[in-house]
Amino acid sequence: MEPKIIDGKVISAQVKDEVKEKTAKLLEKTGVQVCLAVILVGEDSASQVYVRNKKRACEYVGFKSLSYELPECTSQEELLELIEKLNNDDTVHGILVQMPLPKHIDEKTVIDTISPKKDVDGFHPMNVGALCIGEEGFVSCTPAGVIQLLKRSDIEISGKECVIIGRSNIVGKPMALLMLRENATVTVAHSRTKDLADVVRRADIVIAAIGKPKAITADFIKEGAVVIDVGINRNLETGKLCGDVDYENVAPKCSAITPVPGGVGPMTIAMLMNNCLESAIRFSGADI
Ligand code: NAP
Repeated sequence: MEPKIIDGKVISAQVKDEVKEKTAKLLEKTGVQVCLAVILVGEDSASQVYVRNKKRACEYVGFKSLSYELPECTSQEELLELIEKLNNDDTVHGILVQMPLPKHIDEKTVIDTISPKKDVDGFHPMNVGALCIGEEGFVSCTPAGVIQLLKRSDIEISGKECVIIGRSNIVGKPMALLMLRENATVTVAHSRTKDLADVVRRADIVIAAIGKPKAITADFIKEGAVVIDVGINRNLETGKLCGDVDYENVAPKCSAITPVPGGVGPMTIAMLMNNCLESAIRFSGADI
């Protein structure tokens, strides 16, 4: 059986086009121009690429983007002051601080300082708590993107056995809560899980988020399973990107699978745009 290839480029473009349309509607109805502030500290080249891509996406969907590119030597106090200023600026709807930060700045303090109402990354403890108890808040963009990939590919989640491999705060844990919200039966596996292959073989839906190239091989996969590969790993020899899943050998066993690149990756920025629009809609009180 040929697996369905879940195309993250197509689905992320759909999400961004919907955001673009609603952004124009919001502006027309209320005069509110959606605005995302992006802060980058230091000169990490990967972070610079991410920030550039985020600015480009803002332009595409019609957001105003404010960009703060601060030197490596910026003190924690200076960064917190800027965040407070943006928290208090009613024209700013989303604040994103690009991680990782230089070592002398405490990431947790930074995350805690961003107003939960503008925390479009969904990392603030209030938003994580809201997700946990099913209240309204911002959801971490990558797992939110996985849900969109599944839903827009007409993959049934309710009642399915889902195994998530990885338990990080930005992917594995929020992913588990979202799949639970969608009524899957959820297992979270990690580096201490015994007999990982046996656990993963139970799954109708496998979500791999471990950061180990091709660690999930065909013997982990039940015939007909759906496989979502969140991993983004660079092969140091070829320079090419690969996922956590051994795609060539796993794909023939699946009913559907995401490629790397072009699967989960493009969804993250699309969902960031969606979160920022949601924030502006909430601020405006409009019914869009
Ligand atoms: P992370 O913080 O390093 O967490 C990795 C998780 O995987 C941990 O929970 C770890 O278990 C578990 N793990 C590691 N090796 C394992 C193994 N051999 N067997 C089972 N579990 C194992 O990573 P992350 O931030 O969640 O990211 C995971 C991957 O997703 C990375 O490749 C990253 O680049 C990618 N990613 C992609 C996007 C995107 O598509 N836009 C966004 C974020 C991340 P312990 O907790 O026991 O250590």
